[in-house]
Amino acid sequence: MGKFYITTAIDYVNSRPHVGTAYEKIAADAIARYRRLAGDDTFFAMGTDEHSLNVQREAERRGLAPKAYCDEMAVVFEQTWRSLGISHDTFIRTTEPRHEAAVREIFARIHAKGDIYPGLYKGLYCASCEAFYQEKDLVEGKCPHHGIALQTIEEKNYFFRLTKYRDALLAHVRDVNPEFVRPEIRRNEILNVLEGGLEDISVSRASASWGIPLPIDPTQVVYVWFDALINYVAAVGFPAEPERFAKWWPADLHVIGKDITRFHCIIWPAMLLAADLPLPKSVFGHGFISVNGQKLSKSLGNVIEPEAIVSRFGADALRYFLLREIVWGGDGDFSWEQLERRYNADLANDLGNLLSRTTSMVERYLGGEVADPGGARDAFQQPLLREVAGGESIHFNDYWGRLDLARGLAAIWELVRRANRVIEEQAPWNLAKDQAKREELQQLLYDLLESLRITALLVAPAMPSKAQEIWARVGQPGEVAGARHLADLAWRVGARFTGIKAGPPLFPKQA
Ligand code: ZN
Repeated sequence: MGKFYITTAIDYVNSRPHVGTAYEKIAADAIARYRRLAGDDTFFAMGTDEHSLNVQREAERRGLAPKAYCDEMAVVFEQTWRSLGISHDTFIRTTEPRHEAAVREIFARIHAKGDIYPGLYKGLYCASCEAFYQEKDLVEGKCPHHGIALQTIEEKNYFFRLTKYRDALLAHVRDVNPEFVRPEIRRNEILNVLEGGLEDISVSRASASWGIPLPIDPTQVVYVWFDALINYVAAVGFPAEPERFAKWWPADLHVIGKDITRFHCIIWPAMLLAADLPLPKSVFGHGFISVNGQKLSKSLGNVIEPEAIVSRFGADALRYFLLREIVWGGDGDFSWEQLERRYNADLANDLGNLLSRTTSMVERYLGGEVADPGGARDAFQQPLLREVAGGESIHFNDYWGRLDLARGLAAIWELVRRANRVIEEQAPWNLAKDQAKREELQQLLYDLLESLRITALLVAPAMPSKAQEIWARVGQPGEVAGARHLADLAWRVGARFTGIKAGPPLFPKQA
């Protein structure tokens, strides 16, 4: 048992959350919930990145002051995440005093180190990325991410000596902590950048007004990325609460999109080294979601808001679909057809049916109660559900322990499908007609209920509210999410289920 501090990227609030941003939060939430189930003391932080020029422009377009606009949007974001069952412990906004205090402290430390100096900046700037690019990074002379022309900016700025930390970073990523950047494709990308050499970066803006004033020159504001990255330490009490900070920092996992790995795997660790703070243990750059094979874009009009999916299929079905369908770390595709297929096959037919058949048979044949008769099963079940449950629990843990979320879910479905096949093979409706087969019937239904109890625990990180429904329907008290030990997954011998009743479908069929 240990501690686990996990974060997601904080989002720019200049547009509403969509299925792509939701994917990152859902995956991070599933990982956080899994760590809690495994008994780790877990802290999960997310938030909003508000000091962006894009945010300021959007606020102006709507005739609002930037802060008033951010106040509105922060609520939209947090409500969206709550509606998806996201279980974050804190939601940090970069306009909050606790964040601004952390930025001032980190900046002061780096400045005291002699790693901040004034200079003249001339560079190619993408206003959408809020980042400068070198000629070699461009694709056909344009932003590699946005495909838009870059502006040439020349102004007096303050610089951070990023170059000073290049050797230390290279050694760290290559030798000291090979898990620092994941997956492998992102690690190789970062190694290439480090081997190719770095340039010092500008950490202030002279022309911007919306931002945190630079402590050493209030005519400038802190560069938005330098500002935003600091949220990860601010969220756990840096610098005002040193004990809380010492408990949680360093972060165990930063979950981010693959397009922002350079900020998180080069600039951020260099800032931490300069500020004499420990480095996060791992940064994971996930892939992107397309819709019907096309990149999500406002101009294509294919941006899907999570709410549109939740209102039709429910939050847990969306969570399951994204986690099961997309290999964590790779790109994936969303389509309504594929969601519907997964929903009907895996959720309604496999899991939903198993619950409703089992509970209705226990009610009808055994009056809603069954105790483990013990021993009778070995004669007739092959393989034993007990053994399948044990084996698939181990597989699930192995996969989720190394963030192979899709395969971990597939392992649970091995158990669910096996349980459904046992029903076909043993035909409890026939056993129920024969008084001599009473014990076999009890054993079968006990084993099915126990399989469902374990399934509820296993699916809880991915589908928290449906897991709770299964948990309650198989007569378990309290919250399935309250489980704090993987030992709860062990098959129980000699237990008793009571108060089992048939209920409404867990996943109503979608037309
Ligand atoms: Zn760009």
